[in-house]
Amino acid sequence: MIQIQNVSKSFGGLQAVKDVSFEVAKGSVTGLIGPNGAGKSTLFNMVAGLFPPTSGRVLLEGKDITGLPTHRLFHRGLVRTFQVPHEFSRMTVRENLMVVPAGQRGENLFHAWLRWGKVKEQDRQTLEKVDEVLAFLEITHVADELAGNLSGGQKKLLDLGRTMMTDARMVLLDEPGAGVNRTLLGKIREAIQRLNRERGYTFCVIEHDMDLVSALCDPVHVMANGELIASGPMSELRRNEQVREAYLGG
Ligand code: ADP
Ligand code: MG
Repeated sequence: MIQIQNVSKSFGGLQAVKDVSFEVAKGSVTGLIGPNGAGKSTLFNMVAGLFPPTSGRVLLEGKDITGLPTHRLFHRGLVRTFQVPHEFSRMTVRENLMVVPAGQRGENLFHAWLRWGKVKEQDRQTLEKVDEVLAFLEITHVADELAGNLSGGQKKLLDLGRTMMTDARMVLLDEPGAGVNRTLLGKIREAIQRLNRERGYTFCVIEHDMDLVSALCDPVHVMANGELIASGPMSELRRNEQVREAYLGG
C-alpha cells in the first residue's frame, strides 16, 4: 500500500529522519514505535504530505506521491489523525462528522444540513452514514454533545469517525491511545481491528502503549535517533537487544 524509500528529513542542522525505508502492506495494521524525538511524527508528516522529504520517495499503491499536499492525498484515499485530536470543539459530535469533506463524494454536508428541507438523495445517504458511524463507534449517546466536552478517549473515537466519513482506506494514526482511559482504549482497539478486518482499512499506527501495539500491530518498525533500527512482530522485538536498549528500557 505504502512504500517508504530512503526517506530523510533535515531541519537546519538536525537530521530528524535518516534514510528510512519500509513498507505498509495492504490490509495490515503496521506499527511504528520508538522513544520521543525518534522522528516518527516527522516521518508521518512526510507520508501525509505536510512537508516533503529532503530526499527519498514515498509511493502509494505503486504511484509516486512524494511531496503531494494533504488534500491531493486525501483524494487518493490517504488520511492521517493527529496525536492531539483536531475536532471542532464548539460543534456537536454529529456536526463534526457532517463537516468532513466527503472526498470522492464531493459534497459539503454541513451546508446540506443547514438547508435541511432540501436534502438531496446523496445528502440523505450521508446523514445515514453519520448514524451508522455513530453506532459503529458506540457514541450515539453523545451525538448531540459539543465535541469540546468529550473525554480524551471519546475525541479519539470521533477522530476515527471522521476518518470513516471519508472514502480513505489508508489511515495514519498518531498515538490513538494517548490520554485514553482503559475502558475506552479497549473500544478504540476494537474499532481499529474491526475497520481493518471487516472493512479492509490499512493502518499505520504510532503508539507508545505496548499492550495496544502488541494487540494491534504486525509488523512493528522501531525508530531511534531518526533511523530505523529493527522491524518484526512485537514478540520478537521484545527480545531484540538493540530495541530493548533504545526503547523498552533494557
Ligand atoms: P517523535 O514523533 O518520534 O517523538 P519527531 O518526529 O516529533 O519525533 O521529532 C524528531 C526530531 O525532529 C526531534 O529532535 C524534534 O525536535 C525535531 N523536529 C520535529 N519537527 C521539527 C520542526 N518542524 N522543526 C525543527 N525540528 C523539528
Ligand atoms: Mg510524535
